Amino acid sequence: MANRSLTGNLSTQTSNSLLTLTVAPGKVMRGSGILHSVGKEIARWGSRPLLVAGNSTLAMTHKSLQPILAKANLVTAASNYGVDCCEASLQTLKTTAQEHQADVIIGFGGGKALDTAKLVAHQLQLPVVTIPTSAATCAAWTALSNVYSETGAFLYDVALCRCPDLLILDYDLITTAPPRTLVAGIGDAIAKWYEASVSSGNSQQTLIISAVQQARVLRDILLQKSATALQAPGSETWQEVVDATVLLAGVIGGLGGAQCRTVAAHAVHNGLTHICGHGSIHGEKVAYGILVQLRLEEMLQNNQLAASGRQQLLKFYAEIGLPQKLDDLGLGNITLGELQTAAEIALNPQSDIHRLPFTVAIEQLMAAMVSTTAPMDSKDVKNRVSPREMSQEV
Ligand SMILES: [Zn+2]
Repeated sequence: MANRSLTGNLSTQTSNSLLTLTVAPGKVMRGSGILHSVGKEIARWGSRPLLVAGNSTLAMTHKSLQPILAKANLVTAASNYGVDCCEASLQTLKTTAQEHQADVIIGFGGGKALDTAKLVAHQLQLPVVTIPTSAATCAAWTALSNVYSETGAFLYDVALCRCPDLLILDYDLITTAPPRTLVAGIGDAIAKWYEASVSSGNSQQTLIISAVQQARVLRDILLQKSATALQAPGSETWQEVVDATVLLAGVIGGLGGAQCRTVAAHAVHNGLTHICGHGSIHGEKVAYGILVQLRLEEMLQNNQLAASGRQQLLKFYAEIGLPQKLDDLGLGNITLGELQTAAEIALNPQSDIHRLPFTVAIEQLMAAMVSTTAPMDSKDVKNRVSPREMSQEV
């Protein structure tokens, strides 16, 4: 259920100073089985870690991570982050960290566990180590945490003062995650191109030009390698795709900063979280959001490249199992009221959807949301391509 009073709290990552760059973690360690050799490295950051993880991953740490920390003479407290990266969980974890006299926070898990750990560390001004157990997002890399309600509705994001101090990417851990998480990570990462090229494609700033170009490289790697990677978890190609979703996607966010992050795909995601909560994962909703964004560009700008880009993505999504329509997100029976609520949230005044180069009315957004799989009307778009659109690459 939507909570309309929450819309006033929505914000986007604009608090990062333009003079401050948070490009990359202090150190990235990656490899298969490297978890066994990280005790000493973590000990450089503190001797009393608070380990933050979700329910099932916390159980995993009793056998995997906690013995390694004990062997390095670290006195560890472990805590469940609860239902989501929400204000109540953050408060509880801060108290736990203070009671334990924690001097370093370790996030172990998916995006929500890592976002929670990063934000607790930021608020307590402690170093943070991120250990992703899935490749579903680039949260292990970025200086950003998303805060949700207890029912999973997106509320706001917080720009952190720096990227994590240490990122440990152990491919063996990632292979234990459900394949669906990497598929979602591909959806979240490929959005970088579709969003950054719209919000920052005309930028003259060196680092932003570089970020947009890297987003294009990231898209191409994912289009070329994802299907092969998903067929062979743990393979070299699979590792390259994991690097793309966890690391390169983070590089782009870091280089591009707040100006080059999200547009309509994430705005649609944010709207959907208010009607479907924890029913689908972040990258799945974002992937669907890309199709909505392209549909808007197609419908409102008659952008032929957006139209063909959408057809290309529909094929790609079918191949790897990303959602193409509301039904695929478990929202096949959505009411008109719910659709309207999601669209209203996506269109709130602070929403990144307003970085599109045209204005979107609520009816237009709702129409785009229910027509993401519409066929391309070739005769309709044939004569409408303007010179500006020809110079865009979608
Ligand atoms: Zn995302």
